[in-house]
Amino acid sequence: MQHDLIIIGAGPAGLSFALSLRDSGLKVAIVERLTRDELADPPEDGRDIALTHLSRRLMQQHGSWQRIGDEHISPIHRAEVVDGDSPYALHFDKPADESDGLGFLVANYRIRKAIFEEFETLGENFTLLDATEVEQVHSDDRAAQVRLDNGKTLEAQLLVAADTRFSQSRRQMGIAADSVDFGRSAIVCEMEHELDHGHTAFECFHYGRTLAILPMPGQVSSIVVTAPADQVDDIVGLSPEAFARDIEQRLRHRLGSMKLLGKCHVYPLVAVHARRFQARRFALIGDAAVGMHPVTAHGFNLGLSGQDLLAQGLLQAVRSGGDIAAPSLLQRYQRRHMLSTRPLYHGTNAIVGLFTDDEFPVTLARKAVLRLSNHLPPVKWAIRQQLMAKQHLSSLLPI
Ligand SMILES: Cc1cc2nc3c(=O)[nH]c(=O)nc-3n(C[C@H](O)[C@H](O)[C@H](O)COP(=O)(O)OP(=O)(O)OC[C@H]3O[C@@H](n4cnc5c(N)ncnc54)[C@H](O)[C@@H]3O)c2cc1C
Repeated sequence: MQHDLIIIGAGPAGLSFALSLRDSGLKVAIVERLTRDELADPPEDGRDIALTHLSRRLMQQHGSWQRIGDEHISPIHRAEVVDGDSPYALHFDKPADESDGLGFLVANYRIRKAIFEEFETLGENFTLLDATEVEQVHSDDRAAQVRLDNGKTLEAQLLVAADTRFSQSRRQMGIAADSVDFGRSAIVCEMEHELDHGHTAFECFHYGRTLAILPMPGQVSSIVVTAPADQVDDIVGLSPEAFARDIEQRLRHRLGSMKLLGKCHVYPLVAVHARRFQARRFALIGDAAVGMHPVTAHGFNLGLSGQDLLAQGLLQAVRSGGDIAAPSLLQRYQRRHMLSTRPLYHGTNAIVGLFTDDEFPVTLARKAVLRLSNHLPPVKWAIRQQLMAKQHLSSLLPI
């Protein structure tokens, strides 16, 4: 075998996994359909990613966090959830003794660029096969194999797929996935504004549409509008001025006059959760394991924590001279990662249902949920813990 491990997909999850294995001594091939130039200089895609404290720690360990530059990282000090036109808000503040934020916002293209730059420093054990597509995957007791679009076949002990939420290899390995098509799309962009955002993130659930405003460095916010898919063309078809007036109004002018920067990007909203994260000599990480609805901002955070759990298992196997594709190792990864992904996946989908259904009993229920959550310290503690914990949840449990 030419390699110990093959990773499919050099997105942020696949590349982070390679960084976690920097000192493993394993021979790793990473296959990616994009070119090296596209990976080195990813285009702006309108996505700004809210990262947890655990994600920051993992990226710091990799060396990719330091490559982003402090001026491009914006802390979140407060988060508010508003329902319709009601002035009532569910709010979370960073603890008074915490100098950092609840979390951190960074543009997705900067994250991808930083991770790729760090990947390029890995030694000769890591081979990137760019501009190459995996067409077929297969595994048996002896090895895992991938057939590439250039006709070649690669073999390794273990195959790890980070090939998007619509993972082709997941399907080829016979792993079923639950998915929800919300029939809605997210329209994302950045806007400059007159007033200071005070590092507060807003989630406004207006009737028919939701609007998230995330504080970026300077007088700039990231805007995420979710709307039924049949309304998207009308929204992105607005002139930049009309779009800005609409957002100002929905925000009740709390950021003053606003201006669209660049263009709007549209993402259809489909969430996916694989029923298993492993098969023989095969594991799923990143969106290929769990592709989240962006409203609770967990997608890449789960991608980072999942790849770390799997990498820890591999490093331990290498240290003890064990098998990196041992079923017990892969099953342990699955158990530990599922522990956080399942509740977050179903919880997020339930929140989306509650906050996008505008029929009468549901609107009443969400008003009740906001008030109850504001007055239930354990709920706020759990949400804050999710953002600010620096350890994996599963490390606290004997599994
Ligand atoms: C609007 C929006 C907002 C978001 N906000 C947040 C947020 O605030 N916080 C957060 O944590 N997450 C957020 N996310 C989620 C986050 O962007 C994703 O979880 C993350 O980008 C997934 O990374 P990945 O590496 O798993 O997959 P991807 O980025 O999809 O990368 C997969 C790679 O695999 C390659 N590939 C696929 N198939 C093949 C093949 N057959 N052969 C070779 N290569 C292949 C692709 O070319 C691609 O480069 C958001 C997502 C959206 C859409």
